Amino acid sequence: SRQIELASRPDGMPTKANFQLKTAELSPIGEGEFLVKNHWMSVDPYMRGRMKEGKSYVPPFQIGEPLEGGCVGEVVESRHPKFKTGAMVLGNLGWREYWKSDGAGVVVVDAKRAPAQAYLGALGMTGMTAWVGLNKIAKLQPGSTVFVSAASGAVGSIVCQLAKAKDCRVIGSAGKSEKIDWLREQTGIDAVINYKQTDDLAGALAEHAPDGIDVYFDNVGGDHLEAAIEVMNDFGCCVECGMISTYNATQPPVAPRNLFKVIAKRLRMQGFIVRDHMDAQDEFVEEMSSLIEAKKIVWEETVSEGIEHAPQAFIGLFEGENLGKQLVHIV
Ligand code: NDP
Repeated sequence: SRQIELASRPDGMPTKANFQLKTAELSPIGEGEFLVKNHWMSVDPYMRGRMKEGKSYVPPFQIGEPLEGGCVGEVVESRHPKFKTGAMVLGNLGWREYWKSDGAGVVVVDAKRAPAQAYLGALGMTGMTAWVGLNKIAKLQPGSTVFVSAASGAVGSIVCQLAKAKDCRVIGSAGKSEKIDWLREQTGIDAVINYKQTDDLAGALAEHAPDGIDVYFDNVGGDHLEAAIEVMNDFGCCVECGMISTYNATQPPVAPRNLFKVIAKRLRMQGFIVRDHMDAQDEFVEEMSSLIEAKKIVWEETVSEGIEHAPQAFIGLFEGENLGKQLVHIV
């Protein structure tokens, strides 16, 4: 079975040299175990944090060991009563072609209700991140003005549409014209900013949000957070979901330089980790499935074919290569 291992820890932007493709022997499954062939693996910005040494909310990847992450695959051999051959399952051993399990942390997914890979995106971790951030953290009220950064990405694109479904005014930012077009044409949001084509993000935001922003859904940090704070209304909420602009930084970020305004404007700023909210998963799946059925939610996938392309797919996240959810299809 082929797998991608961490070859070395990146210094700044990751490169392909930080990864190595290796072949590992598969040992036979024991009683109570099953073997899964991965079909899809998720590629996520948070994995950059696990490439560093040191304590965080998830343990670091180890050099010479395969990486991990969300994946969906098919049970191809089973000696487990619950996980039958042919079932599609969601697990956390991506970055490899096959894995063995005793079932801990693995769930069967219904590939008839939605394509299997949707359980890594809109119906999975990234969709739930959007939903938790808006509902549990921002406690979003209809009629609010919401700003979303990395708006065409896996999390951001769902945030935009969930907020629209709640009758909010939504402004999104993205860094490529095809993403801007997609947001305009497919998500129905009210305004879009190409942040790479403006040197005054706060000015552009103020123009699109003349009455100010009530909720900022932050995927980017840095200059985006600074611009949002500038345009936030008093008692607004910054939902701190991610700060991708800082993940490869070798120096501490300079922005936001206007943090004092969090006090002056009495802002609430709250970070969250989706994993802490798993008790709300049923509620999320129910609401999301009915929005998908009602065609109120659409999504895009950017698919790399073959496990050998997973490192480039991951690096691409930091270069803005992906529209929607970045996946690797393991053929
Ligand atoms: P995306 O699909 O949004 O992909 C990343 C996108 O970020 C890129 O396509 C790019 O889009 C944008 N980007 C990259 N570098 C920069 C930069 N320097 N400045 C501005 N934009 C940049 O990824 P996800 O949807 O998976 O994740 C989005 C965010 O959510 C991340 O910060 C991630 O860490 C966070 N997250 C947090 C979770 C939680 O539990 N708190 C769970 C899941 C994700 P563009 O071309 O528009 O620049």
